[in-house]
Amino acid sequence: MIKVLFIASEMEPLAKTGGLADVIGVLPKKLNDIGCDVRIILPYYREVRDNLRRLKLKVRNLPREVLVSIDWLAYKGTIKETTVDGVTVYLLCNDELYDRDSLYTTPNGDYRDNDVRFGFFSLGALEIAKALNFKPDIIHCNDWQSAMAPIALKWKKHYNNDPFFYDSKIVFTIHNIAYQGIYGREILDKFGLSQSLFNTEHLEFYGRANLLKGGIITSDLVNTVSPTYAKEIRTREYGYGLDGVLRVISNEGKLAGILNGIDYDDWDPEKDKDLYFNFSFDNLRGKFQNKSKLKSVLGFDANGQKPLIGVISRLALQKGVDLVVRSLNSILDLDVDLVILGRGDKRYEKLLKDVSADYRGNFKAVIGYDESKARRIYAGCDMFLMPSRFEPCGLGQLISLRYGTIPIVRGTGGLLDTITDYTENRESGNGFIFRRFNEEDMIDSIERALSVYRNREEWLNLIRTGMQMDFSWNKSSKVYLNHYKMLLGKN
Ligand code: ADP
Repeated sequence: MIKVLFIASEMEPLAKTGGLADVIGVLPKKLNDIGCDVRIILPYYREVRDNLRRLKLKVRNLPREVLVSIDWLAYKGTIKETTVDGVTVYLLCNDELYDRDSLYTTPNGDYRDNDVRFGFFSLGALEIAKALNFKPDIIHCNDWQSAMAPIALKWKKHYNNDPFFYDSKIVFTIHNIAYQGIYGREILDKFGLSQSLFNTEHLEFYGRANLLKGGIITSDLVNTVSPTYAKEIRTREYGYGLDGVLRVISNEGKLAGILNGIDYDDWDPEKDKDLYFNFSFDNLRGKFQNKSKLKSVLGFDANGQKPLIGVISRLALQKGVDLVVRSLNSILDLDVDLVILGRGDKRYEKLLKDVSADYRGNFKAVIGYDESKARRIYAGCDMFLMPSRFEPCGLGQLISLRYGTIPIVRGTGGLLDTITDYTENRESGNGFIFRRFNEEDMIDSIERALSVYRNREEWLNLIRTGMQMDFSWNKSSKVYLNHYKMLLGKN
């Protein structure tokens, strides 16, 4: 049995800001199903505490402590253990660091001590493994928040000659290269790393220290969450300054692209308790009842045939919500209703609130993070719009397909690996793609979708095509397992 230590800063249903949580909520479970023994390490945020209570999950305090020295201070962590869907999760507790309103940011920007919060988390994760004598074959890190673990294992005294981790191989998954954990060079001293690492071969990045870069260099295998994104991040346009490093590791055969899936048990229109009406591939009546109900809840005309388009998104530049707002008149001129559910950058939240007030009747912006509402929007819409500037994988389009809602996406990253344009390929098409990030191309793709929508039979077929596709984790979890085996010489 392959022992895997997952180090991740989010996990469904305990703590979530985006797709990372969805992945960590299901991939470990799937890996356990095919013969791994996965343990997850997660910070014990306030949100985790609240969700454990809400879900009535049993939590055990373990009689162990971990100590991590940062900036000559000893930071102490205690450990709680819980089980989610059969997967063991160890929660690293330190109230000073994690008992806060949100995971990473305040309304005015990131917490200033995120280097300490996640440095402590990464090293604390290694200490937990030791304290509990869980000797991992694979240490599977996720995003910059976990990068200090491989950096320490390779470059920090105390860890790089620790026999406990001699045989451990490190896999590093980049869920989004735009977030890198960049700090001043003093971070090296803080974490007891030699200043000789401050050069462009190691941690230096334009005069500062870049944790993601360190994680990439020090891991045995790096992967990102779709094949196309794995290619894109090797280019200047998408690499956010790390394209050079990624080209190097790619030439060494250490960069892979493994498509994310979604949890088909969790995202299931037949069983979803949040929906007004359940429905299935062979009985779509409930889907259209959901649409009417959703429309009336949103204050739209519930009986009309007008198509309903949904957007559910973090409100960040990446997601292109600004393009939707800029194009609002042209979209609504197409005689559609539009609903946006989102949370994120304050300027986008304000922008959406302001325009929402002007367009009562066929446009509504719901500001906030609300999974139940999200589920009802996925189910009740005809089309789902995802105009991303870049998209590592994207889960919204996969959830939409599962709920019979046709994705209209910008052709980038994982969206290209999962959506085939119906205009170009009527056999295997499952959505509509626009290539260039501009209003004209986006409107053109919506118009193409609308012309198919008007042909009822053709549209129903398209819905069924999407609902029948398999974007569950069954395939991708096996790909991860194969990579683990290869690293361990077990293939
Ligand atoms: P990212 O991780 O970049 O935010 P993904 O498409 O990979 O984007 O994953 C987004 C996940 O977060 C999906 O499960 C989506 O449904 C969910 N989500 C995003 N915004 C909201 C929101 N405002 N309310 C509820 N769920 C949301």
